[in-house]
Order: sequence, then C-alpha cells, then structure tokens
Amino acid sequence: MVSSLDSSVGTERNVVTEIPGPLSRALQARRTKVVSAGLTIGFPVYIDRAEGAILVDVDGNRFLDLGSGIAVTGIGHAVPELVDAVSAQVAKFTHTCFMVTPYESYVEVCEELAALTPGTFEKTSALFNSGAEAVENAVKIARLATGRSAIIVFEHAYHGRTNLTMALTAKNMPYKDRFGPFAPEVYRVPMSYPYRDGLSGADAAARAIKIIETDVGASNVAAVLIEPIQGEGGFVVPAEGFLPALSTWTSEHGAVFIADEIQSGFGRTGYWFAVEHEGVVPDMVTTAKGLAGGMPLAAVTGRADLMNAVHEGGLGGTYGGNPVAAVAALATIKTLRDRNLIARARELGATMLETLSSLQRDVAVIGDVRGRGAMVAIELIEPGTTTPNAAAAKAIVAYCQQHGVVALTAGTYGNVIRLLPPLVITDEQLADGLGVLGAAVRSVQ
Ligand SMILES: *Cc1c(COP(=O)(O)O)cnc(C)c1O
Repeated sequence: MVSSLDSSVGTERNVVTEIPGPLSRALQARRTKVVSAGLTIGFPVYIDRAEGAILVDVDGNRFLDLGSGIAVTGIGHAVPELVDAVSAQVAKFTHTCFMVTPYESYVEVCEELAALTPGTFEKTSALFNSGAEAVENAVKIARLATGRSAIIVFEHAYHGRTNLTMALTAKNMPYKDRFGPFAPEVYRVPMSYPYRDGLSGADAAARAIKIIETDVGASNVAAVLIEPIQGEGGFVVPAEGFLPALSTWTSEHGAVFIADEIQSGFGRTGYWFAVEHEGVVPDMVTTAKGLAGGMPLAAVTGRADLMNAVHEGGLGGTYGGNPVAAVAALATIKTLRDRNLIARARELGATMLETLSSLQRDVAVIGDVRGRGAMVAIELIEPGTTTPNAAAAKAIVAYCQQHGVVALTAGTYGNVIRLLPPLVITDEQLADGLGVLGAAVRSVQ
C-alpha cells in the first residue's frame, strides 16, 4: 500500500523562490508551444505533489490551497484512504466498460447516491465522466420522461462547456463567445441575488415564475435546472424561500426539478447537499467535483420512475463509472463520514464568515460576504457603490499567489473571490490563509 507519504510536504505555506519559480517558468514556456492558448491558467506554478491542504510546486514552494481544484479535493490531497483504494483497484483492473461486463463498485456508488441524496422515494443513478456530461444526461432524461422540451435556467448559472451546457450556462465571455449556434428550447429567468436585487425569496420566485408562465408556458416545461448555490456565477445564495417556491411550482406543473449540486454537493456546504438547508427535495440531482476526490466521476441520481423511463441502451458511455473513479468515490464518501468532515465544513464556514465579515467592516471594497459551510465568498465593489470591482478581485488573488495562497475568482462580473478549502484544512492553516487574504484586501484599499 502507498499510504505512507514522505513527510517533507509539511503543513505550512512556504515561498522559497520568486513566483512563479524558474522551473515553473520553463514549463510554462513549453506549455505555450504545445497546449492550446484557449486554456487559461490562473496561477502558473506547476505542481509536483500535494498533501492535505498543501500543494508543492516543482521549485519547492509550498502553497496553501483554498480552492481544492474548484471544490474537487474536499477530503484533501493524497488522503491515505483514497490513495490505497485507487492503488488497489489499478492493480486489479482499470476498465471493462460497465455496459460490456459490469463490476460491483459501480453498483455500490449508486447505492450510496440513492441513500445520500434527499428524498425517501426509490432512486436510480447513471454515472458519467464530467459535470457537463451529467447535466446533459439529466436534461435528456427529463425531456424523455415528460415528453416536453423547455428547460428553465437562471441568470449567472454555470452548467458546463459542451454544446448543450453552453446553452444552459449564462455568461458569454469566456464560455460561449463565438462557439454557437447553441441548443434551442433553453429559457433563462432571473435568479434570486439578495445583495443585488433586494427581493425576498418569495418575490424573486414570483418574478421568475411569471416569466416562465408568460414566455414559455407551464405545460411546455420539462425541467427547472438550478444550482442551489451558484458556483462560477459568484456563490450566489438565493434568498430563503426561493428554492422551495420553485420546487413547489415545478411539481405542481408536472415538470422535473433538477438540482445541479456539482459544486455545492458532497459536504461542501455543511450538508451532503446544499438543497438540504431549506428541506428541498429535488426530482433529480447532478453531482461530480467533490464526489470522487479528484478522479473524474459524475452522476445523475433521480426518482426511479423518471430515470427508468429511458429505453434500454439510451444512456451510457465508454468510461462512465470507471472502476478506479468508482472506488475513489466510495473512499471519498467513507472519508467524509469517518472524519466527520461535513460537521467540519460548518465550523470552517462559521470561521470564514466571522473573519470576513469583520474584515468587511474595516474596508470599503467588500460589498458582500456570503456562503454556506465551506463555500464562502466576498464580492468586491467600488467603494461607496455596488459597482462590481473586478480589478480589486484580480489584485487580491495575485497578492495571495505571491504569498503562497491559492484563491479563486468567480462571478458574472469577475468581482468575487471564492473560498473552497479542503475540509481537512486545520484551524491554523485556515487562520493563516484568511490572514493573507485580509492583508491582500487591505493592500488594494
Ligand atoms: C463545474 C460545474 C459543472 C461542469 O462540470 P465539468 O466537470 O467541468 O464538466 C456543472 N455545473 C456546476 C454547478 C459546476 O460547478
């Protein structure tokens, strides 16, 4: 077994070269020649290894990870339980294709998904490779099961970069610009965004529903697809009552309520799924990111009557539910349970909200502090206004990088900094990271 790691990774950030260092700069030069310029790199330090909440680059710099590779390594890097499970599976077999000759771990992941997702009704799942693929399949299934075509999505939404999911995603640049034409029968309605619209959840839902009923027609709606807390859109937490009202409307009109929990799921917000904060029970849930600790795996889980409406052979894919990814998911779920990491997400969230709210009182560039559990963001504005301040967000992230902290931006206007620390981050590491972030914010004042 490969669970014992050389302790040289350490637990503290430590910048030992200029950033990026010489070896990273050399790799970046190679990258420029052979990797498409269409991929942007937020922080061009090339990683050699990682453990817990620390990333070590090829120059020996140690970075504190407050992004978890976009909410993927929630259980931390190189967690022994996951390393052991994956290593053992690689030695047994890496692929058979579940549709050719099946294996137990796929079934076990679906058993876990049925048990963990909200709702006591019978559920079945299908496994895929990426979040976008899961969302596409959820839409396919909802259309087939309802015999309708319209899909309702929201402002600021992010659902992926494939052709259908580009249509579902809100933001043009960089995700959609000149990549069309896009898939039809996708209708966008306003999201509840308390900081910017000041509406109650009920009023924001009424606004959205009025547009659906007048512009689309309730009887044409196959599905309402929503992120319970928006990810790329800027960690927008809808006002209380918004999600329950939409969910109720959806079921009253025979449509499918799909919660895209790809970023907010798997313990991130202090529950297994973010919809649980308001007791909402979706008909279908899409998951990926935090599901398998870094191995590519995604799922659609939903009411058995909907999921099983699909004809034989209608769902699948060569790699979906790959056995190495499947055991990684089982190890991830076990680690979340055994290490009590969902309760830990709530503690981390309380500390982040408290520290950042007190920072907000001292500075004029933070317009809003929001989030649930270990999914927390600050929204930067021009002092004295609510005008988005993307330049401040960029400068703050750059300061953090120079000081050995990985932080990510988000938001339709690029003015949000989101924190997604691994749930195994220690109190000392989190305090250190928030200290650097605080100094970064003060530096742009
Ligand atoms: C990341 C993300 C996706 C797309 O997942 P990929 O694995 O990148 O295809 C879809 N929905 C949400 C909410 C996401 O955060």
